[in-house]
Amino acid sequence: MERRTRVRFAPSPTGPLHMGGVRTALYNYLYAKKRGGDFIIRIEDTDSNRFVPGAEEYIIEALGWCGIIPDEGVENGKVVESPSERHPHAPYRQSQRRSIYRKYADMLVESGNAYYAFDTAEELSRARAEAESRGETFIYNQTNRKNLRNSLSMPESEWRPLLESRTDWTVRFRMPENTVVAMDDLIRGHVEINTDTLDDKVLWKRADELPTYHLANIVDDHLMEITEVIRGEEWLPSLPLHYLLYKAFGWEDTMPRFAHLPLLLKPVGNGKLSKRDGDKMGFPVFPLNWKNSEGETYHGYREDGYFPEAFVNLLAMLGWNPGTEQELFSMDELVEAFSIEHVSKSGAKFNPDKAKWFNKEYLRRRSDEALAADFLPILKEHGVEADGEFVRKVVSLIKERATFVKDFWDIASYLFVAPSSYNEKDVTKFWKEENWTLALKTAEFIRNFDGAFTKEALEGPLEEYIRSNGWPMGKVMNCLRLALAGNASGLGIADIVTLIGKEEFSRRIDAANQSAERRDTASSGESAC
Ligand code: GLU
Repeated sequence: MERRTRVRFAPSPTGPLHMGGVRTALYNYLYAKKRGGDFIIRIEDTDSNRFVPGAEEYIIEALGWCGIIPDEGVENGKVVESPSERHPHAPYRQSQRRSIYRKYADMLVESGNAYYAFDTAEELSRARAEAESRGETFIYNQTNRKNLRNSLSMPESEWRPLLESRTDWTVRFRMPENTVVAMDDLIRGHVEINTDTLDDKVLWKRADELPTYHLANIVDDHLMEITEVIRGEEWLPSLPLHYLLYKAFGWEDTMPRFAHLPLLLKPVGNGKLSKRDGDKMGFPVFPLNWKNSEGETYHGYREDGYFPEAFVNLLAMLGWNPGTEQELFSMDELVEAFSIEHVSKSGAKFNPDKAKWFNKEYLRRRSDEALAADFLPILKEHGVEADGEFVRKVVSLIKERATFVKDFWDIASYLFVAPSSYNEKDVTKFWKEENWTLALKTAEFIRNFDGAFTKEALEGPLEEYIRSNGWPMGKVMNCLRLALAGNASGLGIADIVTLIGKEEFSRRIDAANQSAERRDTASSGESAC
């Protein structure tokens, strides 16, 4: 019988989620949705030494921002702690499932697939040092386990009482000797490995009565009826152990299929994309801002002004391709187009310029109404209370030039407040006395224009006025723009004056006329440009 697709994202709350982690969640989500299946979130927090407060909340918030909404495991932004119809496998936080795992560790010991180990940390480091002094690497498996303190090397009469008297023992997997594990990965294909290179991993620890990642992960994937495990490439070395654990439990028939995703690589050079690359090159590697315990803030895509849709789209393209030229995909289109067969084996180089390109494309496609709403709080921060319709109009004129909404202020602040200074270079270049005289006459023409005060009505007659006088169009316009906007580049004069209105226009022309900058240029008496 065909099983219902069930995949999971299983982060450990050890810090903020890296963008590579968000991509893993996204691919799981797309895979599930494409098949009408379930996407589950499970928090793998059995390693209490690595627990970071706030990390779990960060992960859930980041996924929510991206629109990666789990079917199971999270409700109202919180990880579900007790079972219900929609969340039958709760709790979804492994630290709350601790009572489940002991039984499975015991089962493995009983079937001879695991054993109790009593070596102290000091004994193990001594054994490691001794091996190193002989030029060998110490590995806890069939080569060494008979010389160590465990239930395979000691008589039962000796080790059994230790289970009661000591609290520092562990359960270790008994890695079979010289056995080839043949595995299949949906991305990497067939992989084989000999067990002699693998060690007897710890599965359960008496000290905190908690499983390690490997045991908890396999038991939960089994209990939660996971059909595919899609995770980062760094977990590939654990795959043989995971295969052997499924076999040891007798769960081969329902073992999930595995897909190990390629790494995200640095923009330049080789290696994994790290926080440091982001700091060096000025791009975020995290979805949201994060403040660590030292008070350092890591940049997030959200706070840097990316649209979540753009972030999701750029992540989707890092390691996956649709097999066509299409680059822009909504979440629904991604669900439709996504296939694990089109995920590449090799690492995906991150290109920060391409990331910006995605945002620019989403900004261009966003409605003027939505952009105006995005821009209003920024205006407020600058002390500007503007009318919504006016902001919408401004945004429609400038959006092509922006990559982020926050760019709007730099591009168009002059449409809301008069310039407080004039660009020095443009002043030298354009505010020659003879140009200014022509600009003033043109300003008079605009003041006296008695048609409708709209760009459409004004633009033609304005240009005609300058042209018919035989004046240099560019110089006159730049001279005026400098007076109105503080620099010579920007919107057309007809756009500016009709947006700011006749009164404000007059005020700015008068201010420029009296400004020190203009007088300096005039008095320096250069020749015409
Ligand atoms: N807890 C592991 C992690 O943080 C999950 C690995 C897996 O998906 O099996 O990456």
